[in-house]
Amino acid sequence: MLPRRTGACQSETWRRERVTAFTQVDELLEFLELDRTRIPDLDAEPESWGLRVPRTFAERMRPGDPDDPLLRQVLPLTAERQPVAGYVTDPVGDACAERAPGLLVKYAGRALLMVTGACAIHCRYCFRRHFPYQDLGPSQARLERALDEIARDPSLTEVVLSGGDPLMLDDDRLDALIRDLECITHLQRLRLHSRVPVVSPSRLTARLAASLTRGRFASTLVIHANHPRELDEAVRSALLDWRAAGVTLLNQSVLLRGVNDRIEILTELSERLFACGVLPYYLHGLDPVAGSAHFEVDDAEARRLLDGVRARLPGYLVPRLVREIPGDHSKRPLE
Ligand SMILES: *Cc1c(COP(=O)(O)O)cnc(C)c1O
Ligand code: SF4
Repeated sequence: MLPRRTGACQSETWRRERVTAFTQVDELLEFLELDRTRIPDLDAEPESWGLRVPRTFAERMRPGDPDDPLLRQVLPLTAERQPVAGYVTDPVGDACAERAPGLLVKYAGRALLMVTGACAIHCRYCFRRHFPYQDLGPSQARLERALDEIARDPSLTEVVLSGGDPLMLDDDRLDALIRDLECITHLQRLRLHSRVPVVSPSRLTARLAASLTRGRFASTLVIHANHPRELDEAVRSALLDWRAAGVTLLNQSVLLRGVNDRIEILTELSERLFACGVLPYYLHGLDPVAGSAHFEVDDAEARRLLDGVRARLPGYLVPRLVREIPGDHSKRPLE
């Protein structure tokens, strides 16, 4: 048994992890004992979307390996600066789906609320890397306006807290937000989309699990892991605690060239997720966001990979392969 962490201790760890994250490429490479010359296409000073990698995540990378699948997800490359036809700043049509600043409604019954623009880690393939978060305005007034909009539309039954990353907010603010949402009687379900549980599992406090489960909502946490090695023992222990507290756990991944584009890796990812109490939900085709073209896996190859996973695993461990097409009424199945 791991020693039980108290709430105060957990949040202190989390604060420390945020301030000690790597933000300089050279410091990360030194930590990994990697010489710059081993990565000829490195972009040590990206113009935008700077490096951000918590040490807890860097510790899961293989020292001395320029092709490490965890490193590749966060390392800025010169290829990002090359314009590629079809790769744009708003690939999923977020701007057209905004009902209020930071409130997106694309699908029946579900509203997605961006509660912050901040993230614990900067993923190079992120479809929101160019999102104008700074235009969202002061957060409290904006959130109140979004809550008013949700309250005015009785067809909405579920709110997805997103960002950025919603777990960048502290427990008190999240608790207050959850209680406000509970007052909107037509809402039945609450969902959090977050990469923080994988990157910094100390953020999964018992207090926050209680906030999510003590009210009237059925709550789901959708984590984001792309490679089995992201799910170490600390992540597993924190997730199992949350599952025991009554939170439904799902995972979404992005299919990324050089990271998880092999049948064995995807199979192992599903198995490891299950060991952490998590079911695979979506495997997303890359959104064509400017700067990410080097991660693209074409649809035919994606189907072949998923078919290979299906041949090896029970159906409940096979994620749904989807792509987001602006204007569709759901994520589009690729199969
Ligand atoms: C992906 C997404 C959702 C959630 O879709 P599910 O298929 O229910 O997981 C909701 N709102 C927006 C705007 C989304 O992009
Ligand atoms: S954690 Fe999610 S929102 Fe944040 S950079 Fe990564 S993919 Fe984007």
